[in-house]
Amino acid sequence: MRSNSEKITARLFCQSVPSAEHFERFASFVKRKYGEETELEFVAEPTLKNGFRLEVGENIYDWSKEGLLSQLEACLDGIPRTEASDVVPLLKSALKGWTPSVFAEEIGEVVSVGDGIAIVSGLYGAQYGEILLFETGIRGMVQQLDRDRIGCILFGDCDLVSQGSTVKRTGKTAGMPVGEAFIGRVVDALGSPVDGKGEIVADGYLPIEHPAPSIIDRQSVNEPMETGILTIDAMFPIGKGQRELIIGDRQTGKTSIAVDAILNQKDKDVICIYVAIGQKISSVSQLVEELRARGAMEYTAVVNCGAGESASLQYIAPYAGCTLAEYFMNKGRDVLIVYDDLSKHAVAYRALSLLLERSPGREAYPGDVFYLHSRLLERAGHLSDRLGGGSMTALPIVETQASDVSAYIPTNIISITDGQIFLENDLFFSGQRPAVNVGLSVSRVGSAAQSKMLKSAVGTLRLDLSQYREMEVFTQFSSDLDESTKNKLTYGKGLMYLLRQARFEPLSALEQTALLVMALGRVMQDIPTESLESFKNGFVDYVRRTAPELPPLINKGKALDREVKELIIAIAEEYRQKAGF
Ligand code: ATP
Ligand code: MG
Repeated sequence: MRSNSEKITARLFCQSVPSAEHFERFASFVKRKYGEETELEFVAEPTLKNGFRLEVGENIYDWSKEGLLSQLEACLDGIPRTEASDVVPLLKSALKGWTPSVFAEEIGEVVSVGDGIAIVSGLYGAQYGEILLFETGIRGMVQQLDRDRIGCILFGDCDLVSQGSTVKRTGKTAGMPVGEAFIGRVVDALGSPVDGKGEIVADGYLPIEHPAPSIIDRQSVNEPMETGILTIDAMFPIGKGQRELIIGDRQTGKTSIAVDAILNQKDKDVICIYVAIGQKISSVSQLVEELRARGAMEYTAVVNCGAGESASLQYIAPYAGCTLAEYFMNKGRDVLIVYDDLSKHAVAYRALSLLLERSPGREAYPGDVFYLHSRLLERAGHLSDRLGGGSMTALPIVETQASDVSAYIPTNIISITDGQIFLENDLFFSGQRPAVNVGLSVSRVGSAAQSKMLKSAVGTLRLDLSQYREMEVFTQFSSDLDESTKNKLTYGKGLMYLLRQARFEPLSALEQTALLVMALGRVMQDIPTESLESFKNGFVDYVRRTAPELPPLINKGKALDREVKELIIAIAEEYRQKAGF
């Protein structure tokens, strides 16, 4: 902070010496504004043909030709981009409302720059999160306010910012363009297109940081957000507005689960947003291609901030994606947003914080790393009907090291979310995919967000599975088992096969219900292990093709009655005989 006793010298730049009367008016203005101590001196500036420039400390009052032109430029920048024929009336109305003014522009100086961070002196009025404009047009965001300097993260090439160059305040916070046109597109963390499909016409511009909806603004999470993955929809149902963490080691199928959930939203009037943080460009473009090939880009937007981007951009990417999701949620739409992944996001934030010389805490993360993710995930939710009833369901992804869920970032995010899908290495490599660990996974919203139909079909699945896994361990080394134990083991093994599901093959609620009723009705009991997979897949096809009597009988809003369950089991037996299992 500047001390009050410091004497300031104001300098008035003009082409020629002002009259005594003019000079006196300037002097009394600076004394009134900056204190009686302030001295005013005249500096001859031949380049200033018209007007003047008054510099007082870090404030600059510019009434030169250049200053006025830059104000005009800012005014014209505000005109929305439209078809060329509409330009003239827009220009006319913009210029009508434009009045040039002499306002104090705060100017600071770059003290040092490097690693995507600039340290700036001056700009005493700058606020946390404010956007600063550097001489070469590069933008940065204030992240650290010290007594006499400001730490600023840069959103552009830091080679274009040099020591000693000037910086201006903009008075604005970081924002993201939003609009319907973002659907089907791939953009970077600042909202600019990176898919080579031309400019995106935005409907508006919103700040990337925004307070989460309050309790009054929300309603309970009670509608299912079906992922199409049997394990999840049956045992860990996710509701619209819920935050469900997908957690597991590297290469355990985390992204695949999120992608399947996106694919399953086809024709369900849900908008999906996939935020890729710190990933290889090749894997993201492959993923976009998969989505496009399956028609999912028709309702999906991708925010991609690759591993090659600066830590600053990786830090803001999920907030930018969230802002876009919020835009649709506030219009009453249902949105599914995937943050892939928040561990890389936390690492980017740690790098920034260390460069800004914040004190390192546990695992060298700064003290506010919990707030980093809590303020992001709190923005998900189900809005009240008064606010349009939209929802934002968040699927954050976290990568663990050697399945250690008790590390710092995983525990933080587990405590922020409403449940987690825990993926296990051993299951993945034993061929059980998706490799969901049934014991460690949970959905805290649970069956409130499950359709009555599926709820009545699930029955004792979870209990049966945990009994099987326990029994499997105990009986591993025993050779002669009694008949009932053998039966239970075969049944459990059948259930494990039931939950195996290939990528990109989401199942509808009807198919899931039929599978569950069939398996819990022990239809798979005598089928040899090697045929279980083909039996299961064949049965799903059979239900799709030849069981038209089912759909009218079963209805999502109604629990299955005994007759319907018996009918499904009869269809399964019929298929088993026909297919010769
Ligand atoms: P990373 O840590 O690299 O981000 P990840 O955990 O996101 O990896 P994915 O990229 O989703 O994992 O999947 C890793 C591999 O596992 C992929 O090659 C994919 O083909 C395979 N895989 C994932 N899910 C399944 C599945 N249900 N069935 C068969 N293969 C799968
Ligand atoms: Mg992944």
